[in-house]
Amino acid sequence: MPQQPDEIWDAIRGELRRDTPDFKFHIWLEPLELAAIHERTVYVRAPDHIRTSVAERYLPLLRRAAAAGFDPNALVEVVGEDWEPPADARPEVAPEARRGDRLNPKYTFDQFVIGAGNRFAHAASLAAAELPGHSYNPLFLHGSPGIGKTHLLHAIGNYVERFGSGLEVRYATIEEFTSEFVEAIRQNATAGFKQRFRGADVVLIDDVQFLAGRDRTREEFFHTFNSLLEGGRQLVMTSDRAPEDIPGLEERLIERFRSGLVVELELPELTVRTAILAKRAWLDGVDVDLEVLVEIAHRVTTSVRALEGALIRVVAYASMLGEPATPELARHVLRRLQVDESPDARSINEILEATAQEFGLELKDLTGLSKRREVTRARHVAMYLADQLTTHTPGEIGRAFGQRDRTSVTYALKQVDASVHKDQLVRNSVNNLRRRLAQPS
Ligand code: ADP
Ligand code: MG
Repeated sequence: MPQQPDEIWDAIRGELRRDTPDFKFHIWLEPLELAAIHERTVYVRAPDHIRTSVAERYLPLLRRAAAAGFDPNALVEVVGEDWEPPADARPEVAPEARRGDRLNPKYTFDQFVIGAGNRFAHAASLAAAELPGHSYNPLFLHGSPGIGKTHLLHAIGNYVERFGSGLEVRYATIEEFTSEFVEAIRQNATAGFKQRFRGADVVLIDDVQFLAGRDRTREEFFHTFNSLLEGGRQLVMTSDRAPEDIPGLEERLIERFRSGLVVELELPELTVRTAILAKRAWLDGVDVDLEVLVEIAHRVTTSVRALEGALIRVVAYASMLGEPATPELARHVLRRLQVDESPDARSINEILEATAQEFGLELKDLTGLSKRREVTRARHVAMYLADQLTTHTPGEIGRAFGQRDRTSVTYALKQVDASVHKDQLVRNSVNNLRRRLAQPS
């Protein structure tokens, strides 16, 4: 059992997290803080607006979590914002003292939905987990934030811990790796540090893009890295960009990273995004209509993380209103989010103008009747951007595009959503336009 208050609280939170659907965790449990520990009582501080509800609904769960994570006979009290701890209580935790993430039990291969953008990354990760050191080594996963890299990395760790007959796993973010190393130097204990990483069978390092620019750690990383590979240990890394695009990384490290398998994860298409949401809802035990999931999958296209965040908010919002989630409600919540996130959203007219320019067409081509392939393609792209960058509904977008009806807009959105994955031209123009429209006018 952990002894330090921060470790105890980490353990309790881990239990809570495991036992609670994400949307409930997000509303009721995430805002809680450790106030103090006094003898066997854990004092948990809740913001005033949820305190009574937390005490009414979650005390039994909090007690169970404290029993599992702290002391079998632990008691829990939910206290308010101005509560003062008893004089001899153990001090509360400084947030920065919290330990880094361990393996998240929810990040497993089972819970990972496979689609076009991540199939290969999934297969390579599973191979590395099944036969560590014998398949792709090192395995380097990269892709934009929120795309599932950490999920796969933890899935490998969880798999090896479960089925690896005693193989040792080390997981660390590059930040943790670095700070442990710096601490080891300070204490003249680098031998122990080396042992810790080099003694492991499977080493998982998250977010190596942050390795750049730190000479001595990079040196150590390189040596640790080489000795792991030479000893037949499995190494898996993630990064938000490809090895050659990590700024300031020296050639020999880039070469080393590329010497195994480098795989990129891409954002899954609409059907897979919907499947991810369906799985998430099912795992969290919430009942959400398919059309609501489609609405969310359709509107949120930046990352899987954003997708899940949107689902959580929609469900949380509906549950606070005591109403079922509907596509309208989802649209309402997402619009509010979008307005919050992008106050400079563009007007449909600006989008039409920019798109016409990008494709070398006249604005009236886009709103006109031409069915020429180049024109249709440009029109579809403009509709797609109007859907993403404005708060207009497909019906409103249709009207702005020369009185077209809603279904032709939704058809266009599906077309573009599929072709950004397949068609280089469409992808480039969407990216160019996004960039152009993101600049202040
Ligand atoms: P990254 O490390 O690439 O920034 P994460 O691995 O943290 O992204 O993923 C963000 C969230 O999306 C996590 O909750 C993860 O479980 C979820 N996720 C990502 N890809 C998938 C997928 N293919 N199936 C199910 N959940 C996914
Ligand atoms: Mg990550």
